[in-house]
Amino acid sequence: ALRIENLRKSYGALTVLKGIDLTVANGDVVAVIGRSGSGKSTMLRCINGLEQFQEGAIEVAGHKVDRSGANLRALRREVGMVFQSYNLFPHLNVAENITLAPRVVKGLPREQCAALVHEVLARVGLADKAGAYPDQLSGGQQQRVAIARSLAMKPKVMLFDEVTSALDPELTGEVLKTISELARAGMTMLLVTHEMGFARRVANRTVFMHQGTVWEEGRSEDIFANPRTPELRCFIAPDL
Ligand code: ATP
Ligand code: MG
Repeated sequence: ALRIENLRKSYGALTVLKGIDLTVANGDVVAVIGRSGSGKSTMLRCINGLEQFQEGAIEVAGHKVDRSGANLRALRREVGMVFQSYNLFPHLNVAENITLAPRVVKGLPREQCAALVHEVLARVGLADKAGAYPDQLSGGQQQRVAIARSLAMKPKVMLFDEVTSALDPELTGEVLKTISELARAGMTMLLVTHEMGFARRVANRTVFMHQGTVWEEGRSEDIFANPRTPELRCFIAPDL
């Protein structure tokens, strides 16, 4: 579903991604872990065409991502991305937030909107919130609406960048549960997370990024139970 080859990206003199190779198969759930500044968000932003890159190739669901940020329309139909801040439109209710892109980008007919809203809200456990405005929802609910809004575009791959790090601990659980359910339903996902237990439980593979490279990757069980490098050991269990 997603293939990254020798991805290199710099900001001026600062090289942030130093030759990333990563393949995500259909139905894979891949967790991306690593220290602050290791390049996790930058990699996701390159996949989604939000950042230009200097070298390498990225292919998503058969679409080549243009290095210079051209031809993004086709790509955006295939890739959904959810960030730490939910970015819902405050003046639109939940249903309108969800159907805006499908109507504008895909020309979804008005009479199909309600069914789509119901379908994606049910997947995030918020079937009764279609008429609510963002400020009437908790942070966790807003984040689940943001996930539903992405799902409404029927993406082939979902990218999540620390979607729970702005939430209080009691709201984190409900969002992680929503993501686990998507995983179980077979959605292909690449997710940056600081929730190690969640990565271990839900992701079938885990990628440890360090200084702009994929330092270690493997089955999540192996990555957490048997880290091979001191860098990963130290990241997972800094007190040992
Ligand atoms: P965190 O866990 O803190 O989110 P991250 O692994 O997502 O970290 P990135 O946001 O990808 O890290 O940043 C990687 C490096 O690129 C950092 O050194 C950062 O300072 C730098 N960087 C990110 N965005 C820019 C930018 N727009 N201009 C210049 N440098 C940037
Ligand atoms: Mg980041």
